[in-house]
Amino acid sequence: MKTKNKNSDFLSLKESRAIQRSNLAAMKKYEKAKRKKVSPEYFTTQLKDENNILEVENLHTYFFTDSGVSKAVNGVSFSVPKNSIVGLVGESGCGKSVTSLSIMQLVQAPQGQVTDGEIRFATRDFVLDGKGKRIPIYVKDEEGNTVTTDKLNKKGKPVLGKDGNPVQVPLQARSEDGIPLYEMQEVTYDIAKMPTDDMYRIRGKDISMIFQEPMTSLNPVFTVGYQIEEVVYLINPLATKKEAHEKAIEMLSRVGIPMPETIVNYYPHQLSGGMRQRVMIAIALVGNPKLIIADEPTTALDVTIQSQILHLIKEVQQQCHASVMLITHDLGVVAETCDYVVVMYAGKIVEKGTVFEIFDNPLHPYTKGIQKAKPTFETGIDAELYSIPGVVPNPINIPNECLFKDRCGERCACCEGEYPEEIQISPTHSVFCHKYKK
Ligand code: SF4
Repeated sequence: MKTKNKNSDFLSLKESRAIQRSNLAAMKKYEKAKRKKVSPEYFTTQLKDENNILEVENLHTYFFTDSGVSKAVNGVSFSVPKNSIVGLVGESGCGKSVTSLSIMQLVQAPQGQVTDGEIRFATRDFVLDGKGKRIPIYVKDEEGNTVTTDKLNKKGKPVLGKDGNPVQVPLQARSEDGIPLYEMQEVTYDIAKMPTDDMYRIRGKDISMIFQEPMTSLNPVFTVGYQIEEVVYLINPLATKKEAHEKAIEMLSRVGIPMPETIVNYYPHQLSGGMRQRVMIAIALVGNPKLIIADEPTTALDVTIQSQILHLIKEVQQQCHASVMLITHDLGVVAETCDYVVVMYAGKIVEKGTVFEIFDNPLHPYTKGIQKAKPTFETGIDAELYSIPGVVPNPINIPNECLFKDRCGERCACCEGEYPEEIQISPTHSVFCHKYKK
């Protein structure tokens, strides 16, 4: 919805009502689509490159606000290769967190909606029978016959048949962790099309997230153990209280928390910032996820703890053979941790490449600007730190042209016109800037 006067910050009552009407219609449409019962074929897709775990293509996430449509993520495409760490960098408000929330289907609805694009995620999911139920794997004896066991009631006591003998049921196979086994399949889903109910099956298990601020992300009225156990039950609904508690202790010790048997009964306020962030990592790791999204995991921590947490994230990524999407505005964190870097500005990607390409040969003036703005050992104590002049454009009524134009020191006549196309510099390095057009 466009207002008559583009340069005005004020809306007439008529314009405001028209925006509200159009927002309401759009939000209803997207919310209805999310609740629609569809067959899995509708959101099953194929990866373009089998070496990736996640492929985001032309993602658009908009917020329908009372002032107009805010295009927080406006046509973003990138991929996360298997067993790698990809850093998403850019200043506050550039769309990094909204991109990650879109992947998790956690964008604040109904105002925030993924309006276009694909989020292809390779995962393992249950094979469903004709009635949409999971198919259990039963234990077989040496002759290939299904092993049976006593049927138990809710109190754990055998159910007796009419003849007074215990009722026999097939014995379901369990993993080493005690999780009941079902037939599984390798499958790729388009998360942008996936209904909310289906997303519950992969969120927290195959994709998990480490949030920005552990103090606000952890629930202050429950012990950390209880909060880990909640995720254990999500992954294994048949886990007993004892099994869930033991798993919580195991997870705490895995992320390096001393005396996990004691700490498991602590409330978040009894822990330091670094320990709380370790608890968040423990929660994210319970399901052995294939993709971990870490949204500025070190923002609220002091420098020494930051380094420990980054080290831990790298370590668990290697142990779990998972991929990590690291969202940060700190280039030092990226240089230390990531294999690939995606630079975002005003809801779009401006440059992407390997960490060496981005640091050794930055091409986009914005990438060069954020690197220049970082203090180094050469920066004198009295020297003023460089900052990119100007401000980020308003995401409402965003024009189709280079969005960095007004702040760019390298602007030339070739910069006029539509938003620059992606220019491939090497198989892994690309930039969105008219200057590199041949
Ligand atoms: S297209 Fe032109 S104005 Fe935009 S970033 Fe490149 S050089 Fe600067």
